[in-house]
Amino acid sequence: MIKVDQEKCIGCGLCAGNSPENFVINSNGKAEAISQTVNALAKEAAKDCPVGAISVK
Ligand code: SF4
Repeated sequence: MIKVDQEKCIGCGLCAGNSPENFVINSNGKAEAISQTVNALAKEAAKDCPVGAISVK
């Protein structure tokens, strides 16, 4: 499961840029998971998110 905490996300775009098959920036300017497949890129996005908004499990 991939989840983005909408409160924490600052919309930097890093996750969507590095892992476009997993994340998009929604109309609120926040990232949203568009896939529930936890792959290496999703895990990396969770690790790299500057505010720790992404959880993968
Ligand atoms: S990397 Fe984190 S803060 Fe940046 S858009 Fe993605 S979820 Fe939001």
